Amino acid sequence: MVKTLKSRTVVICGGGFTAGLISRQLTAQGIDVLVLERGGDHTGAAEARLPNQRDELRWDVHAGLVQDWSVETYSLRHASSEHALPVRRMEAFLPGEGMGGAANHWNGQTWRWAEYDPMLRTRLEARYGKKAIPPELMVQDWGVTYFELEPYHALWEKLFGISGKAGNIRGQIQPGGNPFEAPRQDEYPQPPLPPTEAGLIFSKAAESLGHKPFPMAAANSPNAYTNPDGMQLGQCQFCGHCERFICEANAKASPEVLLYPMLLKRPKFELRLHSHVTRVDYDRKAKRARGVRYVDLLSGEEYLQPADVVILASFTMSNTKHLLVSGIGKPYDPKTGSGVVGKNFCHQTMSGVNVHFRDRWINPFLASGASQTCIDEFNGDNFDHSGLGFFGGGYIYSNTTSGRPITRRLLPPGTPQWGSKWKQANADWYAHSFNIYVHGSWYPHRENYLDLDPTYQDAYGQPLVRMTFDIRENELRMSEYLTGKAAEIARASGATIVGTPSPRKGPYDARVYQTTHVTGGTVMGADPHTSVVSPHLQHWDAENLFVVGASVYPFNAGYNPTGPLGALSLRLGDDLVRYVQRPQML
Ligand SMILES: Cc1cc2nc3c(=O)[nH]c(=O)nc-3n(C[C@H](O)[C@H](O)[C@H](O)COP(=O)(O)OP(=O)(O)OC[C@H]3O[C@@H](n4cnc5c(N)ncnc54)[C@H](O)[C@@H]3O)c2cc1C
Ligand code: SF4
Repeated sequence: MVKTLKSRTVVICGGGFTAGLISRQLTAQGIDVLVLERGGDHTGAAEARLPNQRDELRWDVHAGLVQDWSVETYSLRHASSEHALPVRRMEAFLPGEGMGGAANHWNGQTWRWAEYDPMLRTRLEARYGKKAIPPELMVQDWGVTYFELEPYHALWEKLFGISGKAGNIRGQIQPGGNPFEAPRQDEYPQPPLPPTEAGLIFSKAAESLGHKPFPMAAANSPNAYTNPDGMQLGQCQFCGHCERFICEANAKASPEVLLYPMLLKRPKFELRLHSHVTRVDYDRKAKRARGVRYVDLLSGEEYLQPADVVILASFTMSNTKHLLVSGIGKPYDPKTGSGVVGKNFCHQTMSGVNVHFRDRWINPFLASGASQTCIDEFNGDNFDHSGLGFFGGGYIYSNTTSGRPITRRLLPPGTPQWGSKWKQANADWYAHSFNIYVHGSWYPHRENYLDLDPTYQDAYGQPLVRMTFDIRENELRMSEYLTGKAAEIARASGATIVGTPSPRKGPYDARVYQTTHVTGGTVMGADPHTSVVSPHLQHWDAENLFVVGASVYPFNAGYNPTGPLGALSLRLGDDLVRYVQRPQML
């Protein structure tokens, strides 16, 4: 029997990055917050201390910090005409679990998106004409401008001690930074990380082609740092166990270092771990969320947790699933183009080319998750797309995040996959190679969407989220073009051997890691007919229900997603302080 608990002011589903930031704003104003998180607490556990932190097999190859696929997975088909099958072990993207979510084991590659991104449709129509955008490319505006979010970007960067070199301060282009950067008020809170050997090679090659390389902004702290809340970061050791790992040195800005230890001391904050949310309890007549249902994974008991305000902050896939399972909002139908929940599902388009240098010591193990050097000339709409046959783009960078022995050995083309020649190639090239990578956008396609699988269920007896998803013509062309640009830099680098450029090809493969940047499903916008939530992230069909996370992005940029999520979450926290005092459509 479901037990009904005492009502709370704000209940947040998911205890990750966005939930932590919203809770910071609310509890600072004395507002009661309960966070329900399905996972546990990593603090002080094997994954967060030496020597076990360095276990590549456990945390990387076996993805030990990731959602348990035997409990809940997704199904995949490439077209509506196919029967979807469950993905037994998802590798394409890796949703996190436990206090702090995926941003505990993230890289820390940090971006504000381009100034025009929140108004991308308007921008593309103005520059290329309405007819230039194919009808199947469902790009739409966010309904909020970059400048409305800018103060929240600045606050988030201070809280997370972001390091970098500004490229544009109040409209003035800054030498050494990204000239395409959206205008900022100030420099980054911390100086950039020092360049790696790969970064130095990349810079020289990119400059020789007329590009403007710059250090990527990073959440790997170059120095000891104390944030405005008094929370501290240690100094990054370039340990090479960053992406997919928790930082035992507390040098990676993450929720379990900077947010939750502080929140847990606040009297108005409660975190209930091992609590798997199954649905939102929705009053259709009143158009309100009454609360949420969840299973206590330690006791097996099921609870109804009533609340004045419900926030879904459980990452793209769970956010979309909660709405579909709870029957809130009209599911998207690709045949008619009607409905909104599940539409605009996107991933990212990664590709690259390897470079091998006989006489340069790259030493890929001396790296952090975001110690990259990049160029932004070919991202988004930073270049003219007239006549190219696609929209979008990506940043291009020297990709050295680790030299871990099982998974990170780059070998020249033609090397056998076993035997003495393979061993010799490892000895010759392991320390002398890196790849030049494209971090590419993915724009929404009419036939890429999420819905509920009619056949397969998870361990809780709920339908799996079904992905109807493939890489379409726009992304195939974009990847071909951008990988060609990466190959130009590779050839200009003086490499002894330039590998074979490998643009992204179809079909979409759930077994190959891309990024954990899947977006869409509950998109934001100013029009309830084309969006699930308003520009203030308030559900159009339930005034006291809010959704936050990359699920609200109407398209996926070539940039990493978490910077604007930080800004959106802090703004939502402030909006909710007002909403709790005076509930209304914001
Ligand atoms: C390996 C890796 C590298 C990354 N690198 C970068 C990077 O360099 N730069 C960048 O910008 N971004 C990066 N990201 C993405 C970044 O981590 C996410 O954008 C960010 O964590 C999203 O915040 P969120 O709150 O939406 O989700 P999360 O932080 O993942 O939090 C969601 C939480 O919801 C919980 N949850 C889900 N379903 C339920 C349920 N039914 N009931 C209860 N709880 C639930 C999950 O357990 C999780 O803790 C990376 C991610 C990964 C995995
Ligand atoms: S590379 Fe730096 S930030 Fe990343 S885990 Fe290692 S010490 Fe921490």
